[in-house]
Amino acid sequence: MEKIEQIIGDFAQMARYHENHLTINSGKCPQCGSEDITGGPVEIDDGHAYQDVDCSKCDAVWRDEYTLHGMQLVEEGSI
Ligand SMILES: [Zn+2]
Repeated sequence: MEKIEQIIGDFAQMARYHENHLTINSGKCPQCGSEDITGGPVEIDDGHAYQDVDCSKCDAVWRDEYTLHGMQLVEEGSI
């Protein structure tokens, strides 16, 4: 019985994570859903980037995190 409760708990946590993740990706405040948000400077560090963002409506502050997932050569260098 304990196991089933744990599985249900894990699933609920996973669903909350995905819900939160989608909210973050859609450019809305994760707390109140407002689109009136302001991003600070983007900090880039070894394939990771992050940006502190604050909500003008409820004053929540969160950090958007990015991971490098690809690379494209835009212009060839001279060798
Ligand atoms: Zn908000």
